[in-house]
Amino acid sequence: MKDLRVILWDIDGTLLHSRRHGAFKEYMRPALVRVFGTAGRLDEMVVSGMTDLQIFAEALRDEGFTPEQIRGHLPELIEIFLGGMERMAAEGELFTALPGAREALAAVEREPRYLNSLLTGNVEPAARLKLRLTGLEHFFRLPGAFGELSHDRRDLPAVARERISRHLNQDIDPEQLVVIGDTPNDIACARHFGTRAVAVATGRSHSTDELLRHNPDAVLPDLTDTKLLLRTLAAL
Ligand SMILES: [Mg+2]
Repeated sequence: MKDLRVILWDIDGTLLHSRRHGAFKEYMRPALVRVFGTAGRLDEMVVSGMTDLQIFAEALRDEGFTPEQIRGHLPELIEIFLGGMERMAAEGELFTALPGAREALAAVEREPRYLNSLLTGNVEPAARLKLRLTGLEHFFRLPGAFGELSHDRRDLPAVARERISRHLNQDIDPEQLVVIGDTPNDIACARHFGTRAVAVATGRSHSTDELLRHNPDAVLPDLTDTKLLLRTLAAL
């Protein structure tokens, strides 16, 4: 079974994006204000590749809240901002699947060697909601690694490996995991754990050239060429 590969998909900028750039601030800001009385420096931040926990901690960095305090209030924050996301989604399309994402996930699912899973900075309920709103949720039945677990994305591949190994009842090696994402942080988390890294240049913050400087195993312009994706995965 060492032939098996688990594809760990990032969500934002890789499989889908918000229709309006920075829309997340519209639902995260009120949650921070309600729980902590301030959203701190959220409005100035570029958050691509960060975990949700890290976004909250960075936003409140200068407001005197410790990461532990923020973690303690996480269930409350999540409940409020998920409610905001749902309200915004009900008013008009909030997220769109990126071109080729659905076909890419279906093609990977059809290959017996590959399994789809998630490695994302989103907290799990937000990840699941975004995938549901874009009709991609049924591709992800395996456990994954999510943004409530750490302030540091580099901690997530080890968690994904542990959960998936337990779920499959077999030991998955780091080199059987492939991280696919749109930011240098995706590549860094893969490198940190000895997994493979495929970058896609569909994020709003990082060009192909910039991603190449972080030495991924491959860079794809987007997910529209399913055959190219499968060839790229087969060559890793
Ligand atoms: Mg991303």
